[in-house]
This record gives sequence, C-alpha cells and structure tokens, in this order.
Amino acid sequence: MTGAAGGPEARARRIRDRLGLVFEESRPGRRGVDPIPLDVPPAPPEAEPEILRERVEGLPELSEPEVVRHFTRLSRLNYSIDRGLYPLGSCTMKYNPKVHEWAARLPGFARVHPYSPDALAQGCLDLLAGLESLLATITGMDAVTLQPAAGAHGELTGILLIRACLEARGDARKVILVPDSAHGTNPATASFSGYAVEEIPSDARGCVDLDALRRRAAVGDVAAMMATNPNTLGVFEEDIAEVARVLHENGAMLYMDGANMNAMIGITRPGDAGVDVMHLNLHKTFSTPHGGGGPGAGAVAVKRHLEPFLPVPRVSGAPGARRLGYDRPQAIGRVRSFYGNFGMLVRAYAYIRSLGAEGLRESGLTAILNANYVRRRLEGVLHLPYSSPSYHEVVFSDRDLEAQTGIKTLDLAKRLMDYGFHPPTVYFPLIVHGALMIEPTETESREELDAFVEAVRAIVEEARTDPDLVRSAPHTTPVRRLDETGAARKPKLRFRP
Ligand SMILES: *Cc1c(COP(=O)(O)O)cnc(C)c1O
Repeated sequence: MTGAAGGPEARARRIRDRLGLVFEESRPGRRGVDPIPLDVPPAPPEAEPEILRERVEGLPELSEPEVVRHFTRLSRLNYSIDRGLYPLGSCTMKYNPKVHEWAARLPGFARVHPYSPDALAQGCLDLLAGLESLLATITGMDAVTLQPAAGAHGELTGILLIRACLEARGDARKVILVPDSAHGTNPATASFSGYAVEEIPSDARGCVDLDALRRRAAVGDVAAMMATNPNTLGVFEEDIAEVARVLHENGAMLYMDGANMNAMIGITRPGDAGVDVMHLNLHKTFSTPHGGGGPGAGAVAVKRHLEPFLPVPRVSGAPGARRLGYDRPQAIGRVRSFYGNFGMLVRAYAYIRSLGAEGLRESGLTAILNANYVRRRLEGVLHLPYSSPSYHEVVFSDRDLEAQTGIKTLDLAKRLMDYGFHPPTVYFPLIVHGALMIEPTETESREELDAFVEAVRAIVEEARTDPDLVRSAPHTTPVRRLDETGAARKPKLRFRP
C-alpha cells in the first residue's frame, strides 16, 4: 500500500502522472503550428539587425496535442477551490463565482490603459470610488485606499500611516504591540516599518490580556497595537472597544488586522469599536481568487485623522467628473504602481453588489454556522484547547491524539489528502500545540462538511488501528512527503538540462 520507491504502485503513478517539465518533453523538430509559406518577399532586416536572431535557443519543441496534454495533466494535479473544500484557516478560501471573472474581463475594465486620461476612464474611476465607499460603510471607517496588493502590504501601509500621523504630531513613538496569537505578518510588518515589537499574552479565553495591555500602554512609548478580530483562534475579542480605549488614553492607536472580516461582515463594524486603521483582504472576505501567490488586494480603511496620509493618487469628484488627485502634501507616497490590482477590485465590487447588505450578512452568519458545525462534530474526536465560542474558524490541537497514538497534526494533514481534501492550516497559531485550524467558509454545503468530518474521524480511527498507514501518508498524491526545509533553504529555481 505504501508504494515503496520502486513498487508497482509507484511505477503506475510515475507513468500516469508524468511530472516532467515541458523542456524535458521537448524533441528537436517538433512543432505546434506550421506558418503558411510567405507569398510576398520577406521584409529586409529592420534598422537594428543585431537584435534579430537566427534561431531561438532553449525553447521547448512540442506538437500541439503534446502541449495541450502537458498543461491539462498539470492542471489536474492541482488542488483548487473548484475541486473541493479548502479548509485553510485564516485564509478564507471561499468559492469564487464565475460571473465575477466575466465582469473582470469586460473590455472596458480589462483593456483600459492605466495612463488613460481621467475623462476616458470614468467607469473605472467610478468603480474605485464606489468600492471605497462600500468598504467604508462595511467597516464603519471614514476613508479607504485600494492600492495595497495583499494583506501584508495593507499592514505595511497602515503602519506607515500611523507613523506619519504620529510624526506629524511630533510624537514619534518606537513600540508596536502584538498579541501572542498574531499572524506572523503582524510582527514582521511592525519590524519592517522600523518599530520594536513587543508581545502581549492571551488570557484563558484566548483574548488579549487586558491587564497586561494596560500596564504596557501606560509607559507612554507605544505607537500602536496590531490586533486581529476575530483573532487567529477564531475567538471574538470581546473587549476590543476597551482595548481601543486603553490605547487611545495612552496616546496610541489600534490597528486591526481585518483578514478575518468574514466573520463580522454585516454583523458588527470595527470602526464603531474604536479601530483607527485596518486592512481587508479583498481576496479572502470578498471572494476574489487567491492562493498560489496570485494577485491580491489589501484595501486599507482609516478614520478621519489618518486620511491626509493615504497614498496617492486618490479618486475624487462626482460621478461623471471623477479624477485622480496627486496633490496631497502629507501623503505617504505611493505603495503600488498605478491603482492596485484592478481586476481584483472589480471582482470584489461585483461580489458586494451581487450579495447586497442582506446577502453579506448572511454569508458571515453562514460562515460562523459552518465552522461551529465542524467544531461540534469533531469535539471529542480532537482536543479543543479553547472553549470560547468559535466564529468563522475553529482551532483543534493534536495533544491527545499524539499522546494516545503518536500521530501528529502533520500526519493527519497528509493523510487527509488521500481522502481528497486540502488539509487545514497546521501549526498556527503558535500558542496551540500541534494546531489544526479549520475554516470551512460559507460556500460549503452540509454534505461537503459531513464528508470532511467523516474523513477526519476515519483518520483518527486509523491512527489507533494502523498508525503506520497515517505516518507514511500521503499515498495517492503525485509526490509524497517533500523536504520542506530543503525547499525553503536550498530552493531550486532554475531548470538545468
Ligand atoms: C492572510 C492573513 C494575513 C496576510 O494576508 P496576505 O494577503 O496573505 O498578505 C494577515 N493576517 C491574517 C490574520 C491573515 O489571515
């Protein structure tokens, strides 16, 4: 069953999957198309004959069906949200409606030149202004920039805004606080922006320890705290308004990592709780496709006092007379070429407009329901380290499983692939032993969730009866366990024949 390197299973898989690069499949002289012979004299080499090459070396030579089959075969090895549940906690991998792809490809959006005069790009500018205003309403904030290209990039933008604002007040502080449950990008952002990073512990509920925060903020050197809500344990920060009040009282600001906005949308607004600045992962909450490093959009929403510092250009003017403004003396500059990943903005806009206020709220409530359904059905099967109510995701631990069977989170995650599921997020947040962070999102049906739960239960059973089967998983994937450290430390980024 485990298919040793030379076994019949491995051989069948090797022949079936043919994982060679397109360069390795190349054979001299094969071609996809034969251009029709010219019936006019060829044009003489142009003004720069030295740039004309006799031959192009190194390009693969294949026939048309070979090219089609190569890429189709590769695409079928890939797991995607179009194939099944993608329960990566914190990543909010929801289904992306295909009609948004159609909208993003409309020629008026897809083919407009980024340097078109404002008068010829009114529709695009209108979409930017409209999306900013919708996001301000959804978050309860005053102004929005759509430029940042990802969540982490939004964090950087937000922290630079705080820095610019504090420096303009003549109060350049040097410390940013993050809870110990924070996503790794939060401390990375703070450090990258030139701040010293200090950790605030979580209490028994999994929330920010208020007493620790009060003590630390009172010192008077804190620029801001970066907090995620609901946090990475899937727990709502019940005292978020008090966190904001404590920070403000001590001259600091509250940055909210809004990557988990899926759980709050239409239900409660960060701006009403006192948040000064936050980012949204449009490519999580607002459905636009992500994963595999694809384009993202990390819109940043701010309160009035931070608006003057937002990156240029800003869209202004009424419908029909929209324009891009650059004359903003306090702006932090540009954070991205042009206006952000515009195609993602079209998809997010389409998502919000097609769902409407009621639909958005329902999506949030369904996401919470789905996470709690999974929680209920797996409680007792896996250890649940925090008993606080779950929002859009639930975090289990491998503590008991490991103690009883020796099977760890990584083994369980790998074995899930044999059952046809993408594994959940593992080993994050760091404060949970062997964390398994499951976020089903609202787009999954009860049947899909039941199948996932059945798979996890079956694996836990296997851990008791046949632990080696789990420890040596996956068995059905094109490649088995990879050297992940080697891939990060000694990456092979170039093909060498
Ligand atoms: C995804 C995520 C981020 C980073 O967003 P990217 O778009 O991947 O850069 C930050 N914080 C949390 C909590 C996240 O889930």
